[in-house]
Amino acid sequence: MAVLAFAESLTGSIKKAGLEAVAYGHRVAQALGTECIALTIGTPEGASTLGQYGANKVVNVDAAKDFDSQTYAAVLANAAKQLGCDVVVFSHSTSGKSLAGRVAVRLDAGLVSAAISAPSTDGGFQVKKSVFSGKGFATYNITTANKVLTVAGNTFRPEVVGSDVAVENITVEAPAGRVRVKETSTVSGTVPLPEAELVVSAGRGMKGPENWGIIEEMAGILGATTACSRPVADIHWRPHHEHVGQTGVAIRPTLYIAIGISGAIQHLAGVNQSKVIVVINKDPEAPFFKAADYGVVGDLFDVVPRLNEALKKFKASNN
Ligand SMILES: Cc1cc2nc3c(=O)[nH]c(=O)nc-3n(C[C@H](O)[C@H](O)[C@H](O)COP(=O)(O)OP(=O)(O)OC[C@H]3O[C@@H](n4cnc5c(N)ncnc54)[C@H](O)[C@@H]3O)c2cc1C
Repeated sequence: MAVLAFAESLTGSIKKAGLEAVAYGHRVAQALGTECIALTIGTPEGASTLGQYGANKVVNVDAAKDFDSQTYAAVLANAAKQLGCDVVVFSHSTSGKSLAGRVAVRLDAGLVSAAISAPSTDGGFQVKKSVFSGKGFATYNITTANKVLTVAGNTFRPEVVGSDVAVENITVEAPAGRVRVKETSTVSGTVPLPEAELVVSAGRGMKGPENWGIIEEMAGILGATTACSRPVADIHWRPHHEHVGQTGVAIRPTLYIAIGISGAIQHLAGVNQSKVIVVINKDPEAPFFKAADYGVVGDLFDVVPRLNEALKKFKASNN
């Protein structure tokens, strides 16, 4: 019995989501009184440092580096069997979500996605997750012998609890992938939205794409990632990967600043797990204010430039 945590990587290095999966795997292993084995695919840089985040052992499989959920799922499921792991942990990232279900089927395992607690083993194996778009919590008891979990992003922050471990290359049977990757384009220069701690987001109140300079300026000052509401992406004011909400990316940053966004339920569904929400809207009745920790009622074209100046001054005086 052991826990297998998939440390996903991108362009040759381990992603923050991968570190979080290992940190969570470590917590699960502690709850079960067993060890956590981290698995990497394609020899990413820094695999041995996973020992610092709680992996007792790191194994690497040299399967295709290009992500293919069918091949990767076979690798993970076969590795779990080979290594005697009955719990497999993924991050709740796009890759983790696409793998967890497939691996659960291959292992006849019960699956809980987007877990927000380490399992309680008091009379079972119970894991908590948020439900109904963040309006409630549910505790699931997994009763199958094998278990698959995905952990919600920004929930278990990777902390150093150990030291580097040697990486062992293992061979795992896996079918050749049927997916051929022709081109990969990655957004560079900013922290990807699912991993971002600070997010500055704007909506239709911006009136047009030409006005986004003040949003980018604020994000630049804070070191934040930019996001937007769905209509803004639909009308091509902003790229689709910035769209957050029920049908976009679901995020859990420490700080979410919503500017000129009404706060429709479908938008809130993707952002209401943020630790602190700041809303800037000229309509005091905007629904977003009900979900806000701090709110500014005012015209964003007046408030945001003034806030940017204040942030710059604050930064300068604190450097
Ligand atoms: C099935 C379904 C799924 C959906 N999924 C999503 C989703 O994932 N994400 C999402 O975002 N939406 C989603 N939507 C759309 C959602 O219902 C809303 O229509 C959308 O979120 C509204 O976007 P908005 O707040 O930018 O625009 P609006 O509703 O037009 O709101 C603009 C806001 O800006 C304010 N404003 C205007 N001018 C200023 C100014 N000068 N200064 C300050 N404030 C100003 C206004 O008071 C208003 O509150 C979905 C809808 C459906 C039906």
